[in-house]
Amino acid sequence: MPAELIDGVSIAREIRQEIAEKAARLAERGIRPGLAVVLVGDDPASAVYVRSKGRACDEAGMYSSTINLPATTSQPELLEVVNRLNADSRIHGILVQMPLPKQLDADTVIRAIDPRKDVDGFHPVNIGKLLIGERDGFVPCTPAGIQEMLRRSAIETSGAECVIVGRSNIVGKPMAALLMQDAAGANGTVTVCHRHTRDLGAHTKRADILIVAAGRAGLVTADMIRPGAVVIDVGMNRIDDPNSSRGYRLVGDVDFESVSKVASRITPVPGGVGPMTIAMLMSNTVKAAEQIGAA
Ligand code: ADP
Repeated sequence: MPAELIDGVSIAREIRQEIAEKAARLAERGIRPGLAVVLVGDDPASAVYVRSKGRACDEAGMYSSTINLPATTSQPELLEVVNRLNADSRIHGILVQMPLPKQLDADTVIRAIDPRKDVDGFHPVNIGKLLIGERDGFVPCTPAGIQEMLRRSAIETSGAECVIVGRSNIVGKPMAALLMQDAAGANGTVTVCHRHTRDLGAHTKRADILIVAAGRAGLVTADMIRPGAVVIDVGMNRIDDPNSSRGYRLVGDVDFESVSKVASRITPVPGGVGPMTIAMLMSNTVKAAEQIGAA
């Protein structure tokens, strides 16, 4: 039997609806959650992401502000913008769109963001809180979205063999930290695979829940899947497609065609993890507004 799809579009829509309701309740207390997105340079893909983040905020009744800076912006100039946003009471969440032009140091910029406004969850304070299990920090949006997706799809993580492929700071590592917590929606037995893993298939085949974030189209094939496993594909790879008007199409890291015949549940690409990420960004911004507003 083919795997059932986990529909990120409809789950994300449900979450955005709930966020709009929360934002309306905050508005009754005179608090309008505000997100600032800083975009340096004119990378077209980044511009698309930034626009959709702004639009999603508007739809939920939140305040959003986009700060467009030239590609030649210096480090002190960018840090000054971040400091101004840290001090701006209309802004509860600050996001600096990555990647940054090469004269700018991402680590320094991330550390300059007030951790209470770091809705991307990349500041070391928030990464530390995630690892310790402190609940008032911010979890990076992609792993937070995956956990929420599993929860809303009634997929049991407690005691499950959770195998993660990829150990990036924005997906693999925080995903592992999240699933290993002693908490609802977690309590998994976590394995993290990466470039140096000796026999990737031997690990993935043990997974009840397999999460793939390696940035390699077609890395995971049907022979690497335990029958009945849940497969979450974080990959977003452009591959040439002369039949598409854009000349390319988006595929994940998982060979959907073959894996969907073996897995029990699977996320499509696009329409799986992607839409969840923006929903969680908004959710983090509302959380920031609740915490800062109450302080
Ligand atoms: P993302 O932003 O999706 O997390 P990155 O490019 O930052 O992606 O990270 C890719 C991760 O995938 C790295 O941790 C790397 O070790 C892992 N990876 C890449 N290729 C393979 C592979 N062939 N087998 C296992 N892991 C891989």
